[in-house]
Amino acid sequence: MALIVQKFGGTSVADLNRIRAVADRVAATVRAGNQVAVVVSAMAGVTNQLVAWVRDAHADYDPREYDTVVSTGEQVTTGLLALALNNIGIPARSWLGWQLPIRTDGSHGRARIDDIATDELMKGLSKGEVQVIAGFQGLAPGNRVSTLGRGGSDTSAVAVAAALKAERCDIYTDVDGVYTSDPRIVAKARKLDKITYEEMLEMASLGAKVLHTRSVELAMKYNVRLQVLSSFSNEPGTLCVNEDEIVEQELVSGITYSRDEAKITLVRVADKPGIAAKLFGPLSDAEVNVDMIVQNVSEDGKATDITFTVTKGDLKAALKVVESLKGELGYAALVPDSNVVKVSVIGVGMRSHAGVAKTMFETMAAKGINIQVISTSEIKISVLIAEEYTELALRALHSAYGLDSA
Ligand code: ADP
Ligand code: ASP
Ligand code: MG
Repeated sequence: MALIVQKFGGTSVADLNRIRAVADRVAATVRAGNQVAVVVSAMAGVTNQLVAWVRDAHADYDPREYDTVVSTGEQVTTGLLALALNNIGIPARSWLGWQLPIRTDGSHGRARIDDIATDELMKGLSKGEVQVIAGFQGLAPGNRVSTLGRGGSDTSAVAVAAALKAERCDIYTDVDGVYTSDPRIVAKARKLDKITYEEMLEMASLGAKVLHTRSVELAMKYNVRLQVLSSFSNEPGTLCVNEDEIVEQELVSGITYSRDEAKITLVRVADKPGIAAKLFGPLSDAEVNVDMIVQNVSEDGKATDITFTVTKGDLKAALKVVESLKGELGYAALVPDSNVVKVSVIGVGMRSHAGVAKTMFETMAAKGINIQVISTSEIKISVLIAEEYTELALRALHSAYGLDSA
C-alpha cells in the first residue's frame, strides 16, 4: 500500500461537476489500494475576486486581513470535495490549515511553512479515510490565518507529501505536464517527460507558473517525487528527477517569461566608491528584492547611470527609498518603467556548452528587439525587453534553440 498526495488546481475544481470528476479520480486511486491525501486550490477565478475585494476595501490593507479573506476560496473546495467523495462511498474529511495545524512564519501574504502536524492525518489515513486539505493557507504566530503567496497550493501539497513521507506528490493541473515554454503562448512548445529539479526550480522562479517556486525547493530538499499531470486526461505527465536520471540532456530545456518586472534608472549618479552600498543597502532594509542590476562605465569618470529591476509590486516602495536618498546619491533624474518583461532560457546543458548566450542575442537582434538588461547564472540567461515583444521573443527563441515540435 502506498501513500500518495494528489493536488488539484483551480481549473480542476472550477465547478461541482469538475469536483465530482476529481472525486472519481481520487476514488480510483483509493480503490487501487492506496492511502490518499488530497490538497485543493480554490475554484478558478475565486482567489482573484477575493484579492480584488480586499484592494477595494482598503488601498493600504492589513496583510493579516488580506489572508483572512483570500484563504476562504480553499475552504469551499475542501468541503465540497469531501462531500463528493462521501457521495460515492469513499470516507473523507476536510482540513483547514489552522485545524491541523500547518504552521507558518508571520510573513502574511507570502508565508513559509515551518511545520505540519501529521498525527490526525495519519490516524485518518490508517482508517482508510481520504484527507482533504486546504492548499495555500496556514496558521501564523498570533493565531492568525496566513497564505503562502499566489499559486501556493503546490507548496502546500509538497510540504504535506514531505511531512507524510508520501511515495509521490502528483500535481494535477490544466496542462498535461511541464512544457518547453508556456503552451498558451508558444503553440509549438513540447511536453517534457522529465526535467531536473534544478531546471524546474529556475523555470518556476523565472516565471513558469505551472509550479510554485517554493514547492520545487521543498521537493528538492526533502526528495519528494514530484509529478505534473493533467486532471482532464490520463496521459503521463512530467516527472522531476535528478540530473543523472536524464539520458539525453538538451542544451536548453525551457524558455520562460515574467511580466512581474519593473525597471528603475538613476541617471547620472556619482561614480565613486560606496554608491552601490548606499543605494542597495536601504532597498534591502526596506525588504525590496532587487533582481537585475546594470551600471554603466562613466565616460568622464564623474557620473554614471544605474539601472535595476524589482517586482511590479515593489516598485512603489523602491521609488520611495530611492527618492529619500536623493540628497546622498545626487542623481540627476529617476526613471521608472513598468513596460518590461524578463525572458529567460534555462538548461543544465549550458554548464558544458558555449554559445547559448550568442544564440539568444542574435535572435533578439534578428527580430529588432532591444535588450535593456542582461543577467546570467550557471544554467540560465535572462534578458529584459519591452513588454510588447514577449510573444515574438518567446517564439523566436523557441525555434532558435531547436525546441519546436514537429
Ligand atoms: P493550477 O490552477 O492547476 O495551479 P496554474 O494556472 O497555476 O494551474 O498553472 C498551469 C498553467 O501554467 C498552464 O495553464 C500554463 O499556461 C502555465 N504555464 C506557464 N509555463 C508553463 C510551462 N513551461 N509548462 C506548462 N505550463 C506552463
Ligand atoms: N488559490 C490560490 C491562488 O489562486 C492558490 C493556488 O491556486 O495555488 O493563488
Ligand atoms: Mg498553480
